Amino acid sequence: MAGEQTTDVVVVGLGAIGSNATWRLAQRGLRVIGIDQHEPGHPWGGSHGRTRLFRVACLEHPGLVPIAQRARELWRELSALSGQELLLETGGIMIGPPGSRIIEGTLTAAREHDLPVEQLTPEQIAERAPGHARVDPGDIGVWDPDAGVLRPEAAIVAAAEAARAAGAELITGQRVQSIEADSDGVTVRLADRDVRADRVVVAAGPWLAKLVPSIPLTPHRYVMTWFRARDGHDASLDRLKVFIRSAPGSDEWMWGHGALPGDLAKVGDEFDGPFEADDPDAIDREIHPGETDHIAGLVGATFKDLEPEPAEQVTCIMAHTPDGQFVVGPSDDTGRLIVAGGCSGHSFKHASALGELAAQWAHGEELFTEASFLDPRRFG
Ligand SMILES: Cc1cc2nc3c(=O)[nH]c(=O)nc-3n(C[C@H](O)[C@H](O)[C@H](O)COP(=O)(O)OP(=O)(O)OC[C@H]3O[C@@H](n4cnc5c(N)ncnc54)[C@H](O)[C@@H]3O)c2cc1C
Repeated sequence: MAGEQTTDVVVVGLGAIGSNATWRLAQRGLRVIGIDQHEPGHPWGGSHGRTRLFRVACLEHPGLVPIAQRARELWRELSALSGQELLLETGGIMIGPPGSRIIEGTLTAAREHDLPVEQLTPEQIAERAPGHARVDPGDIGVWDPDAGVLRPEAAIVAAAEAARAAGAELITGQRVQSIEADSDGVTVRLADRDVRADRVVVAAGPWLAKLVPSIPLTPHRYVMTWFRARDGHDASLDRLKVFIRSAPGSDEWMWGHGALPGDLAKVGDEFDGPFEADDPDAIDREIHPGETDHIAGLVGATFKDLEPEPAEQVTCIMAHTPDGQFVVGPSDDTGRLIVAGGCSGHSFKHASALGELAAQWAHGEELFTEASFLDPRRFG
């Protein structure tokens, strides 16, 4: 017979969002238990690979700007608590044809929130970020001075440690088997016990739909790719700033950044659907011959300072919603089952603030920003 433990809130998943939700809940004085099947900072979900891009002028939705701004405050707070620079605030650049989604999305977000972005000509791009010299003459740049690079594994470990220091109990190496919500509370089932709580936050990343099948989420295998500088070239972050850009002579998007000290440059191609669904428990972790030829071709055509042959490749899992926006909030009529996820390839930067939103839902507080576009029930 399994034992039963009681608490105010259980957080399922101590990845990017869940570790932060646990911290924000514990920091409010609630009794919180955070549970993960692995250890914080592990490489099996959607949040490993040494770096993630941070942007404030979010081209994906103007409503994400206040979330990125709150996230930045929280990343800074976590940096101070952990004594590590988790967010490198370097500025970054979006490059593409006027009117394209990269440019228009960024400018719309900036206009709606009065952000201090700058528009740049190709010549100005080459001055500001010389690693981006190969730009189509008709393209323009938008400089986001608030962009930068996050260190995901360290940030997750820092949030988990901050949660523990604020009084949360963390259970790792145990998989949640099921979650049942009723009008009085929720039961979270582990192999050796049930945990009964007032509310649960399910931040299970690519596994979210396994626990909450009403969320339409497509987990998808993605290969991250790193590149060396060509001999005698400088491909440091200083020259190749954080970017999202169209490839020369093509509609394709790329994202990435130059090398941080002691590391490699990272470049990826854009991941707009349609996607095949992959079982997150059965992701093929091997890199197969030819799999990175496409990104190597794009890098060869775009960056004069990078060796086009990938220097390192690692698999990761993205979890896409049908509209590319996250899901944060109650997912059923009890109001006790709160989900926080649906990364769609752009949620790490927001994870600290998405954790805060999940904590506000679980604590019954007014949200710090308008977030109806993230309502998990919007898909019907
Ligand atoms: C290649 C790639 C590049 C990306 N680039 C960017 C970027 O540049 N900028 C950006 O902002 N975002 C980016 N993202 C998105 C972002 O990194 C993450 O995908 C996102 O932060 C996922 O966070 P999460 O908390 O939802 O999931 P995860 O961090 O994966 O956490 C989910 C956790 O839940 C646990 N879990 C799941 N099921 C159970 C269970 N049953 N029991 C116990 N534990 C469970 C898992 O072990 C895991 O620790 C990128 C994603 C990928 C894959």
